Amino acid sequence: MMVHGHKGFKFQNWAKTYGCHPEMYFQPTCVEEVKQVLDLARQQNKRVKAIGGGHSPSDIACTDGFMIHMGKMNRILKVDKEKRQVTVEAGILLRDLNVELSKHGLALANLGAVSDVTAAGVIGTGTHNTGIKHGILPTQVVALSLLTAAGTVIECSETSNADLFKASLVHLGCLGIVLTVTFQCVPQFHLQETSFPSTLKEVLDNLDSHLKKSEYFRFLWFPHSDNVSVIYQDHTNKPPASAANWFWDYAVGFYLLEFLLWVSENTAEAMLDLKTMLEKNPKVVAHFPVEVRFVKGDDILLSPCFQKDSCYMNIIMYRPYGKDVPRLDYWLAYERIMKKVGGRPHWAKAHTCTRKDFEEMYPSFQKFCAIREKLDPTGMFLNAYLEKVFY
Ligand SMILES: Cc1cc2nc3c(=O)[nH]c(=O)nc-3n(C[C@H](O)[C@H](O)[C@H](O)COP(=O)(O)OP(=O)(O)OC[C@H]3O[C@@H](n4cnc5c(N)ncnc54)[C@H](O)[C@@H]3O)c2cc1C
Repeated sequence: MMVHGHKGFKFQNWAKTYGCHPEMYFQPTCVEEVKQVLDLARQQNKRVKAIGGGHSPSDIACTDGFMIHMGKMNRILKVDKEKRQVTVEAGILLRDLNVELSKHGLALANLGAVSDVTAAGVIGTGTHNTGIKHGILPTQVVALSLLTAAGTVIECSETSNADLFKASLVHLGCLGIVLTVTFQCVPQFHLQETSFPSTLKEVLDNLDSHLKKSEYFRFLWFPHSDNVSVIYQDHTNKPPASAANWFWDYAVGFYLLEFLLWVSENTAEAMLDLKTMLEKNPKVVAHFPVEVRFVKGDDILLSPCFQKDSCYMNIIMYRPYGKDVPRLDYWLAYERIMKKVGGRPHWAKAHTCTRKDFEEMYPSFQKFCAIREKLDPTGMFLNAYLEKVFY
């Protein structure tokens, strides 16, 4: 059976801020069908982009070539109860994976804010949450398989193709089509959330103490004020009162932009610079709290937390009823501050960085580029976003 592609498909990301019209749209159901799409792309000299949940708030998943939606490759392939590991097809939504894991008394140790995202998608952009003892989500991956531009399947892990493994854990969709992912899980657990008001000064003065007090500590700063909401989440034996996370379901239509910092001293510098910038520029209006989260460093080549315990500062603007609001001054001032304090952008989010910036930000950038160029010499998996990163 040949896989069928469709013309006329319009792709839009979750926030409806970026979209594209791929020449052909495919929904393969097995590896053989994905191979057929790549064969066709090679014959016709087309570019290819795989998409997962389409949640990235940038054009990282856009293409005018062939688009492969991985949603029909969403099966659980293996649950190893002894090792607490699960192998899944790359298009599975974490929402579905979480349900399956709970049937086996297992869970992922850390998740992002939403679960309508896929196994390959979250490792594509280095999705994170909070907890200074926890790395970005890709640090929970112990193996994966990749279909390369040449049509070869490569299995990689710490012990097999280790260099490629370290590159593909934050792959930006440019190394090949991720087919399967194996996650290291933990025994299922429940969290109890406690939140209380504070001030920016108190939180910045006592950052280490907050980080020690709660495993999943984060805080929200309300711009144009000193107010902060501190949020602690910690393991509990109490049964869950509510599992609902309705917030993002209703919050359709945001712009998200995210940069991050290196170490805790810089958290204070960046937050205070941002506060001063807003005070000095009353016309710049920020109408959404700045969310600050903390993540353990790792050794993944393009991880924003490469070799640094880091702090993510998430600035967000509402787009009421899908209408654009003035945000450029806020965005650019924020980027300037984050660059000054040695920040690196979140790969999923819009940013103005180019190859020169990434060469300075990432000690292993050249190594990643060499791996990418070897695996994809003709640039089959590139798009406009990635051209800015690599050229
Ligand atoms: C409401 C909301 C809340 C969010 N919260 C967080 C958060 O808490 N923390 C955080 O870090 N991020 C957050 N994000 C961003 C989100 O986690 C990332 O954008 C993530 O990459 C989305 O996964 P996805 O499956 O939708 O991937 P997509 O956006 O579809 O794709 C992401 C990248 O992966 C590539 N890709 C996807 N599947 C494959 C495959 N099988 N093979 C090869 N490449 C592939 C795509 O080409 C693209 O480059 C949030 C986004 C939204 C909209």
